[in-house]
Amino acid sequence: MIARVTLEIALRKEFDYFIPPELAEQVDVGSRVQVPFGSRKVLGCVTGLAEESAHAALKPILKVIGAQTLVTPKILKLARWIGEYYCCAPETALKSVLPEAVRHEQANWRERLHVRALPVPGELPKLPARQKEVWRILQERPELPLSELLVLAKTTAATVRRLEDRGLVTIAAEISERDPYAREHILPTQPLPLNPAQANALAAIITAMDVGKSEVQSLKSKVQSAPQAEVQGSKFEVQGSMFDVRCSMLDVQASAPTPPSSPSSPRSSTFLLHGVTGSGKTEVYLQAIAHVLEQGKGAIVLVPEISLTPQTVERFKARFSSGPLQTLVAVLHSHLSAGERHDEWHKIRQGRARIAIGARSAIFAPVEPLGLIVVDEEHEHSYKQEEAPRYHARDVAIVRGQMEGAVVVLGSATPSLESYYNCGKGKYTLLKLPERADDKKMPVVRIVDMRQNVRPGKAVSIFSPQLKEAIARRVEQKEQVILFLNRRGYSTSLQCPLCGYVAECPNCSVSLTYHRQEQKLCCHICAHVAPVPTVCPNEKCRNPAIRYAGVGTQKVEATLAKLFPQARTVRMDSDVLKRKEDYRRILGDFRVGKIDILVGTQMIAKGLHFPNVTLVGIIYADLALHQPDFRAGERTFQLLTQVAGRAGRGDIEGEVFVQAFTPFHPAIQFARRHDFEGFYEQEMEFREQLKYPPVGRIALLTLKGRNEEKVKFSADYLKHELDKAVGKTKDLVIMGPSPAPLVKAETYYRYQIMLRAQRMAALSQRLALLIQSLKLPEDVTLAVDIDPVDLA
Ligand SMILES: [Zn+2]
Ligand SMILES: [Zn+2]
Repeated sequence: MIARVTLEIALRKEFDYFIPPELAEQVDVGSRVQVPFGSRKVLGCVTGLAEESAHAALKPILKVIGAQTLVTPKILKLARWIGEYYCCAPETALKSVLPEAVRHEQANWRERLHVRALPVPGELPKLPARQKEVWRILQERPELPLSELLVLAKTTAATVRRLEDRGLVTIAAEISERDPYAREHILPTQPLPLNPAQANALAAIITAMDVGKSEVQSLKSKVQSAPQAEVQGSKFEVQGSMFDVRCSMLDVQASAPTPPSSPSSPRSSTFLLHGVTGSGKTEVYLQAIAHVLEQGKGAIVLVPEISLTPQTVERFKARFSSGPLQTLVAVLHSHLSAGERHDEWHKIRQGRARIAIGARSAIFAPVEPLGLIVVDEEHEHSYKQEEAPRYHARDVAIVRGQMEGAVVVLGSATPSLESYYNCGKGKYTLLKLPERADDKKMPVVRIVDMRQNVRPGKAVSIFSPQLKEAIARRVEQKEQVILFLNRRGYSTSLQCPLCGYVAECPNCSVSLTYHRQEQKLCCHICAHVAPVPTVCPNEKCRNPAIRYAGVGTQKVEATLAKLFPQARTVRMDSDVLKRKEDYRRILGDFRVGKIDILVGTQMIAKGLHFPNVTLVGIIYADLALHQPDFRAGERTFQLLTQVAGRAGRGDIEGEVFVQAFTPFHPAIQFARRHDFEGFYEQEMEFREQLKYPPVGRIALLTLKGRNEEKVKFSADYLKHELDKAVGKTKDLVIMGPSPAPLVKAETYYRYQIMLRAQRMAALSQRLALLIQSLKLPEDVTLAVDIDPVDLA
C-alpha cells in the first residue's frame, strides 16, 4: 500500500511512500506522518492513497502523528482550493489549515497524576491521621488530580504514596485537558426576546438551514437506494491528490453560490446581516446556532482578533454551557498558550465541541457536520492574511459553506462594498436590522470644522472649543468619555524649521515618531529606535529649536492631564499594552467606573459596549482619508461609524464629536447621518468609473529586494512576461510597475504591478503557471496577492 505525501518543505511536489503493515490501520488521507527524506526525517500530510506507485524501492512511513487524521477530507479539499485560487504552493496552503500547536511531532497533551480510590476488601486498616484525611476526601471524590488532593488534604505526595503501598489507591498519569476559561464563572443565559427585524432575520436564516437539511435527507435516501457496491469506497482507492486532480475552481465573489435545488426556495444560503451598531446581531447569531445544534450540526463563529475579548467568548459559552443543547465551545485564539490551543482544537476534532469561535484561521476548524458559519464584522481587514497563503477568511467561509452545504451569515454595521454589491447581484440575501435593540437612539454626530481653529503661526490645538466643553460637561456629570486617534506616540515627526531636516527611519521610507515618555524616536513599520536629538543633526545647521509636528495618543493624554487634572485618564494603545492581561484590566477598570476618559487607537473602536459612555470624540477624522488607497473613503466611513457606535449604549443619549479638516468629505458626511446606503451609492460611482473592486477584481504583484535597481529591473521583466502570457486577455489591465506607496520597508525596496480583471479564478491559474517559469534574481522575491486589501 502506497501513500502520497505532501512534505512541509515547500517543493511543489508529492512523494510516494510505502505504508508498513503495522501502520496500515492508522494511515489515511489527511494523516500527518513523519517520513525519511534524504538523510532527514520530515513531517508531511497524506494527500492520497494508491495500490501501486510508478517508483521503485519506496521508503516507509516512519510514524503517524495523532490518534485521528488531522486534516479531514473536507479541509483538504478547502486547502486545495486555497492553493489554486490564491496562487500559492499547496504545501503552504495545507500548512495553514492546522494550528502550529497541533502540527508538532509530539502530541501536546498534558498529563497529570490522578489519584483513584480502590474498593477495600473487608475492613479498612487503621490509618495514621494524615492518611485518614486523604482517604476521607477520596470517599467524597473517588478520583481527582494529585495536586488538587494535596491542597485539600494539606499534605505531601508521600502520604498518598503510602496509601498506594497499602493497595488502597492508584496513582496514574492521565490526560488532563487545559481549559483557558476554567477560572471564569459563567452564568447561563436564556434566549432574549427578539424585535421584529431580528425575528425576520432569524426566520430567513432558519429557513435556509432547513432547506439544506431536507436536501441532505433526500440525498441520503438516494444513496441508500443505490446498489451497495457503488456506495462503499475501499479505503485504498486512489484519492485525488493535491496535484493530479484539480478541484473545481470556485470564484468567491464572481460566481453565484450554488442555489438550493428546491424551486420553492430560490434564495441563496449566504446572508449579509446589516445591523446598525447595538442592533443585536449577536442574539441573532446565538439563536441561529441553537437551531443548528438542534439539527445535530455545529457552527464556526469568526470574530476579528481585536474583538475576540473574554466578553465576546462568554456570551457564547453562557448560552450553550448548559441546557438541552449543551456543548463545549472551543476558542481558537492567538492569546492562548500552545497547550491550550492544542486541547481546544482537539475538542473540536473529537466532536465534543460543536461550536468553534476564533479569529481568521478558525475558518479551518474541523467542525463536522458543519451547519453554520458566522463571520462577524465581515468588513474587517484583519480577515485577510498578509503572508502566504494570502487568503481572506470571509471569502474562504463562503467557499467552505458552498462545499459543505452550510449556511453563511456575514454580519456588520458597515458592510464591505464587496458583500453589499453581492446582495445587489442576488448572490447574497440582505437582512437588515435598522434600529438599535431596546429602542436605544443612535447618537447625535456633530462635525467640527477644524479649519476654523487654524491661527497663522500657531499650532492647531488638539481639542476644538466644542469638544473641550463637551468633555468638561460629561466628566462633571460622572459620565464616561472615549477619545479616538488612530496614531500612537507623542508627535508624528521631528522637524527642523530652519533647514527642513526630518528624522527618518534608515530602513523604511517613513518619518520617525517621537515617544516622549520613553524619550526615543521610533519607526512604526520596523520598530527601529533612535535617540532624540537636542539640536538639528544637520552638520551645517545645528539649530537647537528643533520642533515636533503632528499629534499622537501620548500627546492627547498629556494635554488632557493639563486641561482636566481632576479626571482619571487612561491611554490604550499597543505601547501601553505589553501583556495580555493589560487589555482586560483597563477595560475592567473602565467598566466599573475607575476611569473617566479612555484615549486610544483602533483598539477601542470595535465592539466595546459600555453603557455609561455618553461622549465619543474623534480627534482627527481625516487621518485615514489621505492614504494612497482606493478604499481610503470606505475605511474612513467604517471607522467613524464604528467609533461613533460606542456612544449612547445605555440609558442616556450619546453624542459624538468628529473633528476634521475636510468636514464636507462624503465619507464623513454620510457617517454623520448613519447613512450606509447613501455612502454606498456615492462610492460605487467612483469604483464603477475605475473598475475597481467590487466592480472588477484585482491582484497585486509585489517584488521585494535590498537592491533597488535589481527590484526595478525585475519588475520590468515581470511586466514583459505578463504582457506575453496574459496581456491579450480580454478585460485584463496591467498597471505598473511602480514603486509601492511605502517604497522601502524594513530595509527592502518594493515595486508593484497591479492586475485588474473581470474574473479572478482563471487569472489565478495562469499566474501560477507564469510564476513557476519566472527567473528572478536570487535576492528578489515576488509576492502574489489575490484580492488584496492592503495596497501599501
Ligand atoms: Zn536644521
Ligand atoms: Zn523602519
